[in-house]
Amino acid sequence: MRYASRNTDYLPKAFYNIKADLPSPPKPPLHPGTKEPIKPEDLEVIFPKGFIRQEGVTAREVPIPGPVLEAYSVFRPTPLVEATALRKHLDTPARIFYKYEGVGPVGSHKTNTAIMQAYLAAEEGVTTLATETGAGQWGSALAYAGSRFGIETKVFMVRSSFRQKPGRRVLIEMFGGTVLESPSPTTEAGRKFFEKDPEHPGSLGIAISEAVELTVKNPGIKYALGSVLDSVLMHQTVIGLEAEKQMEEMGAVPDTVIGCVGGGSNFAGLAFPFVRHNLGGSRRTRFIAVEPDACPSLTRGELRYDFGDSVGMTPLLYMHTLGMEFVPPPLHAGGLRYHGMAPLVSHLTAMGIVEPRAIDQKTVFDAAVLFMKTEGILPAPESSHAIAVAIDEALKAKAEGKERVILFNLSGHGFLDISAYNGKAGSF
Ligand SMILES: *Cc1c(COP(=O)(O)O)cnc(C)c1O
Repeated sequence: MRYASRNTDYLPKAFYNIKADLPSPPKPPLHPGTKEPIKPEDLEVIFPKGFIRQEGVTAREVPIPGPVLEAYSVFRPTPLVEATALRKHLDTPARIFYKYEGVGPVGSHKTNTAIMQAYLAAEEGVTTLATETGAGQWGSALAYAGSRFGIETKVFMVRSSFRQKPGRRVLIEMFGGTVLESPSPTTEAGRKFFEKDPEHPGSLGIAISEAVELTVKNPGIKYALGSVLDSVLMHQTVIGLEAEKQMEEMGAVPDTVIGCVGGGSNFAGLAFPFVRHNLGGSRRTRFIAVEPDACPSLTRGELRYDFGDSVGMTPLLYMHTLGMEFVPPPLHAGGLRYHGMAPLVSHLTAMGIVEPRAIDQKTVFDAAVLFMKTEGILPAPESSHAIAVAIDEALKAKAEGKERVILFNLSGHGFLDISAYNGKAGSF
C-alpha cells in the first residue's frame, strides 16, 4: 500500500494548541512602544478580534468552526504517501513518507490558516484584509479564502518574486484580490526604500511594514499574517493531526519528522501533534527544521526580541532572528526569505526538541529533480529543502544499516515556480 486513505473522518474537528503542553511558556510579545507585554486590546488596530482571541487561547484543543471545516473538506484530508519509488532509488532500509499539501486550491499549505483567518474576519464584519506575500503563495491563499467568505484582499508582493514569478499575481487577481509591488510608493514604509531605489528587490519584512501601515491607517481594513504567530501555527496542525491517523493506517510511527522553515508554520503544522508525545515523555522522535543557508535564522540567528517587520511597527517577538534590517538575497525559495522564526519553533529549538539545519541551493535543486523523477511530483523549491534532508537521513540509515521511519512535509507543488527549474542547476 502506497497511499493512506483520505477518509473524511481524518479531518480533525479541533486544532492542537501546543502551548497547553509546554513545560514553560515562550516569552510574550512586547508592545513596540512601551516594551511591556502586549495586551489583546493593543492588537485590535491590526488584527480581527477573533484572531486575537485565538492567539491567546490556552485550551489544548480549539474547535474548528463548521464553515471552516466545510471549506477544508474541498481538499482535505490531503494525501499521505509512502515514497516507495524514491526509497527504491536510494536503496535504503528507511521507509519514507510525505504529507502532500500541494493538493490545496493554490498548491500549498497556506490555505489552512487563510480560510480560518478570513472566516474570523468575516464573522465580525471586516471588509478588507491586507497582507504581504513573498513568492505569492500566501497572497493567493488569502485571496482564495477571502473570495470564499466575501472579504476583499490587498496584497503587497515582494518585488523580486513579483518579477520572477508573475503566476501567482494572476491567481490573486483571479480571486478578486489587488496586488502591489513592494516596496511601493503608496505607503510611508515603502517610500523609504522606493525613493532610494525603485528597483529595490524588497523583502518580506518591508512588505509586512507596508501592509501593517495600510491597516493602521484604515479602520475597515485588518491585517492577516501567513506564518510566525502562535495561532497560525495552530491552524496548520490539521496537517499533523491527519498525518498521525494516516501513519497509523499505514502501520508506521515516524522516528524523524522533517519540514522546511520560512516562518515555521508548515513545519510546526506537521510536527507539533507529534512533538506532543515527546513532551509527554512517551517518545523521542527527532524533529528537523530545514532552512536555506542564505537565510539561516535558526542556525545562525540570535534568540532575542526583534520586530517582525523591517521598520519596527509590529510587536516585538522573542525569536531566532537575523535582524530586522536583514535583506536576504533573491532566492528561488521565496517563501523562506524571512529574517525571523516563529517564537514557538524558536522555543522548541532552544529546548533541544527541534534540530535546525541549513542547506545550500544546489543540494535542494538536486533533491527536487530526483523527487520529480521518482515520485512524479514537481515540488515547491521551499518543500525541496525538506526533501533534501529526508534523502540525507535515508542515506544515513542505509550507511548504518538501520530501519527508520522518516516523515516529511511536502508543503507545496512547484508548477508555478517552474522558471526556477529552468535547466540550470548551478543557478538555482
Ligand atoms: C510559504 C511557504 C513555506 C514557508 O512558510 P512556513 O511558514 O515556514 O511554512 C514553505 N513551503 C511553501 C510551499 C510555502 O508556500
